[in-house]
Amino acid sequence: MAKCRWCDKGGLLSRTDKLGLCKSCGPEVSADIENHSNVIYEEMHVFERAVEAPEKLTAIDKLLASAEKLVAYENKGLETCSPPAKLVLAEYTGFRADLVGS
Ligand SMILES: [Zn+2]
Repeated sequence: MAKCRWCDKGGLLSRTDKLGLCKSCGPEVSADIENHSNVIYEEMHVFERAVEAPEKLTAIDKLLASAEKLVAYENKGLETCSPPAKLVLAEYTGFRADLVGS
């Protein structure tokens, strides 16, 4: 018997994929993780190239929103992006505080 990591549903006849997800969550969760990972990578580049503070803030906010989604998956024991979203979230929350504070 296997239990889905995301929806916690499971039963004698249920099977999970290699990520530990059931049939209905698997494709959805994988696609969501991929989307948010892409947003994070893109916004990291935007942030690095940005010169003005408002531009940097916009990028950070988008990045943090996606990182929060991924942290929810990580808390369920799923692998998301590299570096882990938890670290990304902590690091960019710090960058944001620096920007707003100055
Ligand atoms: Zn599920």
